[in-house]
Amino acid sequence: MPMPPTAASNSAGAQSATGDASGSLPARFHDATGIDLHLHSTASDGRLSPDALLHLCHRRGLHTVAVTDHDTVAGLAEAQQTARSLDMTLLPGAELSCRWRGIGIHVVALLPAAPGAVLADGLAQLSEARHQRAVEIARRLERAGLAQAFERAREEAGSDRPLGRPDFARALVTAGLVPDLPAAFKRYLGAGRPGDVKTHWPELAVVVDWIVRDGGVAVLAHPLRYRLTRRKLTQLLDDFTAAGGEGAELVSGYQNEQRTYDLAGLLERRGLYASLGSDFHYEGGALAPGTLGPLPTGNVVPIWQHPRLSGHATRSAPASLPTTGSVS
Ligand code: AMP
Ligand code: MN
Ligand code: MN
Ligand code: MN
Repeated sequence: MPMPPTAASNSAGAQSATGDASGSLPARFHDATGIDLHLHSTASDGRLSPDALLHLCHRRGLHTVAVTDHDTVAGLAEAQQTARSLDMTLLPGAELSCRWRGIGIHVVALLPAAPGAVLADGLAQLSEARHQRAVEIARRLERAGLAQAFERAREEAGSDRPLGRPDFARALVTAGLVPDLPAAFKRYLGAGRPGDVKTHWPELAVVVDWIVRDGGVAVLAHPLRYRLTRRKLTQLLDDFTAAGGEGAELVSGYQNEQRTYDLAGLLERRGLYASLGSDFHYEGGALAPGTLGPLPTGNVVPIWQHPRLSGHATRSAPASLPTTGSVS
């Protein structure tokens, strides 16, 4: 893995936070504004269509975004079309499900272009795994008292996309078994609960390999949200780096400032690039596109300076995407 340059060695090229006339992105992570590299649409468990999502991002002043739906790139073609019409830069992306030491982990793939054959095949495998997992979740929830769980979750999803735990959570709320979504996760779907099924997901190193082999950049999603001890977190970062992972989300939505600074040090020591994103899913929640905790100062190198993503960093014409948008 190439070591990223330090921010200091790069500062000669630094631009203002909003970029210069040619649209360069800031050289320092701390100066990032208008960038959100973790967003969901109706292609997975987000509530806005890719088109509506891009329009919201534009209204909120964002210029560079990645749509990172769970295990799919089905929303990218539409998102790309809207991004072009709004003169925004869209990085093709996806958030891949996997496991590490029995824990469900998410890896964001940021791609220089549409997925190649390896990642497309990997996403097809994840789509099938997601379906099989939904069947198992439904079986378990039926035992726990939610009759016709699969059908109910399908109805909540409102389309034929692969089901996720939020669809089952809504079904539990609609059926009156729990008062709200947090309670659904707490009692039925969260870590260690009956609906927490991880066995279908591939290992972390496998999904990282798919991304890297296709020329993408593997970014560990929201490292502070897995509730790991610091020791476990450092092990995860070590294993992720050894597998070929090259970046991690230093700032994901709101997070504790002190922990962000600590995480920045962990990334720097491993030569990992720093990414950022809101993990926005729907309006009315705590997060909106572009809402983030404080960005740390220091020498972490922003992910948009990665050589394989540098075509996006200059905000040149975005890479082409398939018109179907579907890989499965
Ligand atoms: P899945 O990808 O099907 O395993 O579902 C994971 C998704 O569930 C996450 O990406 C969030 O969108 C959502 N989620 C996870 N935990 C919670 C929670 N405690 N409350 C509400 N939504 C959650
Ligand atoms: Mn989600
Ligand atoms: Mn995630
Ligand atoms: Mn996400």
